[in-house]
Amino acid sequence: MEMFNMVCTECNKVNSIQSKVENTLILCTQCQADLDDPFPIEVTDESCAIHIAHSDIAVLVDFYSTSCGPCMAMYDDYEEAALGFGSSVRFLKINADIQQKVAQEHNVSALPTIIAFKKGEEINRISRQLSQVELTIWAKSLV
Ligand SMILES: [Zn+2]
Repeated sequence: MEMFNMVCTECNKVNSIQSKVENTLILCTQCQADLDDPFPIEVTDESCAIHIAHSDIAVLVDFYSTSCGPCMAMYDDYEEAALGFGSSVRFLKINADIQQKVAQEHNVSALPTIIAFKKGEEINRISRQLSQVELTIWAKSLV
């Protein structure tokens, strides 16, 4: 039986999931949160590192700052794009002004920067504002 890991967005527990049946609810074994909830979540350096290291699904991390115009302009588009993906891609957001460790580790020098990770490795990055359509196309290519 093939298993894959998903990190709970509520409690950061690494859940080991059996290959998924469509339209079934997958709940965190620790806190019962819905692991398929596609809504982008705000992460800290600590929780971001757990998602990057322990997710078998693709993880997108949006490094933003509230003082960055293009970052804030992309805010709704990022959310809308995320809602089209369930458990296949995890959309995360990190405020790089406050949480600086992950940004430094990955040499994020411009905002916004969105980095795609899979199984702990960076696989791609884009450092500019993306439209909802561009985000969706990119995320689909990661599944
Ligand atoms: Zn949980």
